[in-house]
Amino acid sequence: MDIYTLGIDVGSTASKCVILKNGAELTAKSLIDVGAGTSGPARAIAGVMEASGLRPEDIAYTLATGYGRNSIEGVADQLSELSCHAKGAYFLFPEVKTVIDIGGQDAKVLKIASGGLLNNFVMNDKCAAGTGRFLDVMARVLEVRIEDLERLSAESTNVVNISSTCTVFAESEVISQLARATDKRDIIRGIHRSVAGRVGGLAKRIGIEDQVVMTGGVAQNHGVVAAMEQEIGHKVYTSPLAQYNGALGAALFAFQRATR
Ligand code: ADP
Repeated sequence: MDIYTLGIDVGSTASKCVILKNGAELTAKSLIDVGAGTSGPARAIAGVMEASGLRPEDIAYTLATGYGRNSIEGVADQLSELSCHAKGAYFLFPEVKTVIDIGGQDAKVLKIASGGLLNNFVMNDKCAAGTGRFLDVMARVLEVRIEDLERLSAESTNVVNISSTCTVFAESEVISQLARATDKRDIIRGIHRSVAGRVGGLAKRIGIEDQVVMTGGVAQNHGVVAAMEQEIGHKVYTSPLAQYNGALGAALFAFQRATR
């Protein structure tokens, strides 16, 4: 009989769910663009159940992770997003040694030991610079959609240096660049470089080893991924499941629990 497990990642910015079949095959996923403390987690669970065509009693084990993992009911257990990101990245990239996760409100760099276990980590959760929030704020000022940043930065011919690391000051810097009619695409490339500089600096603190994998919502922006490769001097791998990586790890741990 097939064993289905559900992983839920209640992030600061988005709620993600993954259902796995036999700890190996993606059955369904869902994402709602609001996270902890909102209706997001419940809507994401309803969404993934509907997409899977399964009934609640078909799910052998449910495990929650992420910033708001303690806030939802009806889960068998919960685990830190550090363990779940390590697990998910190792599943997608068995050669992974370094995970760079950039979410909505924090950035973490994980060192992965053999077998996919978490060895060490550093994190920035004190400051919006170098997080998805920084990009969200800048996209709003630039009047572009977050999913268009990648395409626009790829068209840039002359990167603009954003010198402020503080999000509030960097926002003022962007506004004054716009007032000077600087090309938005060059500003966006500068913004990507700023995020890569912040998080790349964090990564250098614990040491970067190949393979390097980027996870979290920001990893979908290949403009940031390219800037990161330039910053750290290593190839950076991503997956279309990057934003689901924590939920994937949770579903994998859920499978271990269901079968132990
Ligand atoms: P959290 O787990 O903290 O809720 P996520 O890993 O889900 O965060 O990432 C959320 C961030 O991902 C958002 O702040 C946004 O900047 C970024 N993001 C979301 N969707 C996209 C997209 N399609 N392209 C680029 N960036 C995105």
